[in-house]
Amino acid sequence: MSSKITIPKICIQCNNGFIAKTTVTKFCSKKCSGKSYKHIKKNEKVKKAQDQEYLKSVGIDMELIQSKEFLSIKETCLLLGISRMSLYRYIKNKTITPSKLGGKVIIKKEVINYLIK
Ligand SMILES: [Zn+2]
Repeated sequence: MSSKITIPKICIQCNNGFIAKTTVTKFCSKKCSGKSYKHIKKNEKVKKAQDQEYLKSVGIDMELIQSKEFLSIKETCLLLGISRMSLYRYIKNKTITPSKLGGKVIIKKEVINYLIK
Protein backbone atom coordinates (compact mmCIF):
# COMPACT_ATOMS: atom_id res chain seq x y z
CA MET A 1 0.00 0.00 0.00
CA SER A 2 1.39 3.35 -1.04
CA SER A 3 1.03 6.35 1.25
CA LYS A 4 0.93 8.68 -1.74
CA ILE A 5 -2.61 7.88 -2.70
CA THR A 6 -4.76 10.38 -4.51
CA ILE A 7 -8.48 9.88 -4.66
CA PRO A 8 -10.77 12.02 -6.77
CA LYS A 9 -13.65 13.05 -4.56
CA ILE A 10 -16.57 15.44 -4.39
CA CYS A 11 -16.57 17.87 -1.48
CA ILE A 12 -19.73 17.20 0.55
CA GLN A 13 -19.99 20.89 1.41
CA CYS A 14 -19.50 22.75 -1.90
CA ASN A 15 -19.89 19.82 -4.34
CA ASN A 16 -16.62 20.68 -6.08
CA GLY A 17 -14.32 17.91 -7.19
CA PHE A 18 -10.95 17.68 -5.47
CA ILE A 19 -8.11 15.28 -4.97
CA ALA A 20 -8.10 13.68 -1.53
CA LYS A 21 -4.94 12.31 0.04
CA THR A 22 -6.74 10.01 2.43
CA THR A 23 -9.84 7.91 2.03
CA VAL A 24 -11.57 9.68 4.91
CA THR A 25 -11.25 13.24 3.55
CA LYS A 26 -14.69 14.66 2.89
CA PHE A 27 -13.94 18.30 2.17
CA CYS A 28 -11.91 20.18 -0.44
CA SER A 29 -10.70 22.75 2.09
CA LYS A 30 -10.64 23.75 5.75
CA LYS A 31 -13.18 26.41 4.91
CA CYS A 32 -15.64 23.79 3.74
CA SER A 33 -15.09 21.49 6.72
CA GLY A 34 -15.68 24.48 9.05
CA LYS A 35 -18.86 25.41 7.24
CA SER A 36 -20.10 21.88 7.39
CA TYR A 37 -19.33 21.62 11.09
CA LYS A 38 -21.50 24.67 11.74
CA HIS A 39 -24.18 23.15 9.57
CA ILE A 40 -24.09 19.92 11.57
CA LYS A 41 -24.27 21.84 14.85
CA LYS A 42 -27.28 23.75 13.59
CA ASN A 43 -28.98 20.53 12.57
CA GLU A 44 -28.31 19.07 15.99
CA LYS A 45 -30.04 22.02 17.62
CA VAL A 46 -33.08 21.58 15.41
CA LYS A 47 -33.11 17.88 16.14
CA LYS A 48 -32.99 18.50 19.89
CA ALA A 49 -35.98 20.82 19.72
CA GLN A 50 -37.85 18.20 17.73
CA ASP A 51 -36.90 15.59 20.30
CA GLN A 52 -38.48 17.69 23.05
CA GLU A 53 -41.68 17.76 21.03
CA TYR A 54 -41.45 14.05 20.42
CA LEU A 55 -40.89 13.32 24.10
CA LYS A 56 -43.91 15.38 25.07
CA SER A 57 -46.01 13.51 22.55
CA VAL A 58 -45.13 10.20 24.19
CA GLY A 59 -45.86 11.57 27.66
CA ILE A 60 -42.35 12.41 28.81
CA ASP A 61 -42.11 15.88 30.28
CA MET A 62 -38.49 17.01 30.40
CA GLU A 63 -39.38 20.05 32.49
CA LEU A 64 -40.96 17.80 35.09
CA ILE A 65 -37.92 15.53 35.08
CA GLN A 66 -35.63 18.54 35.45
CA SER A 67 -37.60 19.71 38.48
CA LYS A 68 -37.37 16.39 40.32
CA GLU A 69 -34.97 15.74 43.17
CA PHE A 70 -34.77 12.01 42.58
CA LEU A 71 -34.70 10.38 39.19
CA SER A 72 -35.29 6.89 37.92
CA ILE A 73 -32.75 5.19 35.67
CA LYS A 74 -34.88 6.06 32.66
CA GLU A 75 -35.24 9.69 33.66
CA THR A 76 -31.52 10.00 34.30
CA CYS A 77 -30.79 8.67 30.81
CA LEU A 78 -33.20 11.17 29.30
CA LEU A 79 -31.77 14.06 31.25
CA LEU A 80 -28.17 13.26 30.39
CA GLY A 81 -29.02 12.20 26.86
CA ILE A 82 -27.24 8.90 27.31
CA SER A 83 -28.23 5.29 26.83
CA ARG A 84 -29.10 2.91 29.65
CA MET A 85 -25.87 1.04 28.88
CA SER A 86 -23.83 4.20 29.34
CA LEU A 87 -25.57 4.97 32.61
CA TYR A 88 -24.84 1.52 34.00
CA ARG A 89 -21.22 1.97 32.93
CA TYR A 90 -21.05 5.28 34.83
CA ILE A 91 -22.53 3.58 37.87
CA LYS A 92 -20.07 0.71 37.58
CA ASN A 93 -17.02 2.97 37.33
CA LYS A 94 -18.46 5.13 40.14
CA THR A 95 -18.88 8.25 38.03
CA ILE A 96 -22.48 8.18 39.22
CA THR A 97 -23.36 6.92 42.68
CA PRO A 98 -26.95 5.69 42.77
CA SER A 99 -29.25 5.71 45.77
CA LYS A 100 -31.72 3.00 46.66
CA LEU A 101 -35.32 3.37 47.61
CA GLY A 102 -36.72 0.03 48.57
CA GLY A 103 -35.46 -2.24 45.81
CA LYS A 104 -35.48 0.54 43.27
CA VAL A 105 -32.38 2.29 42.04
CA ILE A 106 -32.76 6.03 41.95
CA ILE A 107 -30.31 8.80 41.17
CA LYS A 108 -30.14 11.96 43.22
CA LYS A 109 -30.45 15.02 41.07
CA GLU A 110 -27.52 16.69 42.82
CA VAL A 111 -25.28 13.82 41.69
CA ILE A 112 -26.20 14.60 38.10
CA ASN A 113 -25.89 18.33 38.57
CA TYR A 114 -22.41 17.76 39.92
CA LEU A 115 -21.58 15.76 36.80
CA ILE A 116 -22.86 18.39 34.42
CA LYS A 117 -20.88 21.18 36.10
ZN1 LIG B 1 -15.54 22.29 -0.66
